Amino acid sequence: MYFIDTHIHLQAYNAKTAPQIISEAAACDVQKLVCAAVTEADWQMIGGWAEKYPQAVVPAFGIHPWYLETLSNGWQGRLAEQLERFPQALIGETGLDRSRNPEPEPQAEVFRIHLELAEQFDRPLLIHAVKAWDWLEAYWPQLRERRFVIHSFNARREQLDKIIKAGGYVSFSNSICRNRDFAALAAAVPAEKLLFETDGPFQGPEGKDSHPCQIAALCAKVAATRPEPAADLAARVYMNSLRFINV
Ligand SMILES: [Zn+2]
Repeated sequence: MYFIDTHIHLQAYNAKTAPQIISEAAACDVQKLVCAAVTEADWQMIGGWAEKYPQAVVPAFGIHPWYLETLSNGWQGRLAEQLERFPQALIGETGLDRSRNPEPEPQAEVFRIHLELAEQFDRPLLIHAVKAWDWLEAYWPQLRERRFVIHSFNARREQLDKIIKAGGYVSFSNSICRNRDFAALAAAVPAEKLLFETDGPFQGPEGKDSHPCQIAALCAKVAATRPEPAADLAARVYMNSLRFINV
């Protein structure tokens, strides 16, 4: 079985270096890692790993809604330059989050710029959505035209249905196993729209750092709620991941 970790922050591990994680992931058949930036300061480092490990690291460039205070003038242009320089790059992590800031602006403005760049460069979007589902309502028509994932999905069935209706992908990390409706949600994602991720080092089991090698166990837990055997689900999700990242 092969896997792709569709959302990891290699730059955020304390105890391990990125090259360590990359080689450990390869050893447990996690073939690719989509490495998501959260601030502009991450872009250069992630671009460097993508150049050094072109088979393993797929870069994603963006600004996470928690870190908008790090923005400096001209960031949009510099993000566009990164996308030009890395034709395989995705856009993200971007999104909307009410848990840290109750105001929709300026996060909505920054999110809109990511959406515009996704359209201009025809790139997939890694979207973070926390307690902001009503804010997202305004974006479904635009998202329907794009390739996007709601990453580390851990919300309700109603929201899952909206993502699916808009043609989006749903990515599960370990956090979904803590959802009280885990079995129903895991069973409800259409097989061709499911992705797996760690969101590493975050979302680990029992508060520990998560690791790409945990994706096989996550796949087994999700498969237990569904008709497909784990190996078939893994193969399906692997194909979905390649289609999503456009390989
Ligand atoms: Zn993340």
